[in-house]
This record gives sequence, structure tokens and C-alpha cells, in this order.
Amino acid sequence: MYDVKGNLHKVLGQLPEGVRLVAISKYHPEEYIMAAYEEGQRVFGESHEQELRQKVTVLPKDIEWHFIGHLQTNKVKYIAPYINMVEAVDSLKLLREINKQAAKHNRVVDVLLELHIAEEATKYGLTLDACRELLDCGEWREMKHVRICGLMMMASFTDDREQIAREFQTAADFFDEVKARYFADDDAFRERSWGMSDDYPIAIAHGSTMVRIGTMLFGPRIY
Ligand SMILES: *Cc1c(COP(=O)(O)O)cnc(C)c1O
Repeated sequence: MYDVKGNLHKVLGQLPEGVRLVAISKYHPEEYIMAAYEEGQRVFGESHEQELRQKVTVLPKDIEWHFIGHLQTNKVKYIAPYINMVEAVDSLKLLREINKQAAKHNRVVDVLLELHIAEEATKYGLTLDACRELLDCGEWREMKHVRICGLMMMASFTDDREQIAREFQTAADFFDEVKARYFADDDAFRERSWGMSDDYPIAIAHGSTMVRIGTMLFGPRIY
């Protein structure tokens, strides 16, 4: 087995105070998750509803699950009973659905708004203007079963470190704008979820509070 425990401690040793690790376990077996769990890791991220559902049934109940992938509205009802955070909310429609389904279980689900800053056309997420529009409309203020805790984004898939740094900085600046404009009195709004195996040191240098790391912990994924 991949040296999950060794890798976990290596990564944790590099995270400054105030930066949390979300261990991205998609496509990795339960044994790998348990290896990290035994070392104290409790926050894990998955991106496919069915895979997550399977894992949730067999793994310890005190794991905090983050849904990190693109979430279709028709899948929300399946994860609403237990999900802790939906990291990639990219529409008002999805936010409404999470609120509606969480209400049925009398829960409050934490969410992040996903930004589209990277240059790739394929990436999901809200443009900065679309994000401002969503927040300006104010409907979210009436939603009692979702709590907007911050922003999430993925940098472009490129070797150009400067471009990656620019994208993270754009997200960090936008976080400050949104915090001041809509969440100044809301302590819950504080998360900046950026940084993956290849770019997390850059992300941390640009304000990340939450890194989503898979490959560095668990090795290459077999799809
Ligand atoms: C898979 C995934 C990650 C983890 O990527 P690694 O390169 O394996 O660290 C992080 N964030 C999202 C949204 C992902 O889909």
C-alpha cells in the first residue's frame, strides 16, 4: 500500500496554522481512508455521489465529508442527510436545492461558492460577476439551511507558476471584496478553498485556508 501515513504527516507538517487539510479520497479504497483516519485525519473530500454513498455506509461516522465535485441538483437529496460541506456551489438553483433538501433533515449544510477564474473553458464555477449577482440578489439571506462559509476555486492546469499565483491572488482579492460587502459581520464566512497536490504551496502563499489534496496522500488515482 502507498505510504498514506507518511505522506499525511509530510503534508500536515507543511501546513501553517489556520490551513486545514481536506484529504481527497475519490477513487481510492476505504483502507486508504482508514490509514489516514487512524492518524487523526477527519476531513475527506469526494466528488461522486454514488462512490461517496458507499464509503459513508462503511466508514466511521465522525468523518466530516466534503462534496468537492460538480453536483447535479437531482443528486442533492442523496447527500443532504449527512454531507458537511458542499464546496462547489456554482448556481442559485443548486443553492436553493441544498437549502430545500437540508431543511427536510433539519440540518444546516455548509457551502462554498465556486469561482471560475482559470482559463480553461471546461471548468465549472461562477465568474466573479455572476458571483456578485448571486450575492446581490439576496435570496441566500433567507435560506436557513445553508451557511455560506467562503469561496472555492481551482487554478488552471498549467506549468506556469506565475499564472497559477495570479489566479489564486485574484480569488484572494475577490474574497476580501465579498467579505467586506456581504459578510462583514459573519464569522462563518472565512474559508478560501484553493490548492491541490501540484500547487498547494502557492495557494497557501495566496491566502488559502483549506487545501484539497489527493494524489500527494494516496498516490495516483486509477479511474
Ligand atoms: C481531485 C480533486 C482534487 C485533488 O487533486 P490532487 O491533484 O489529486 O491533489 C482537489 N480538488 C478537486 C475539486 C478535485 O476534483
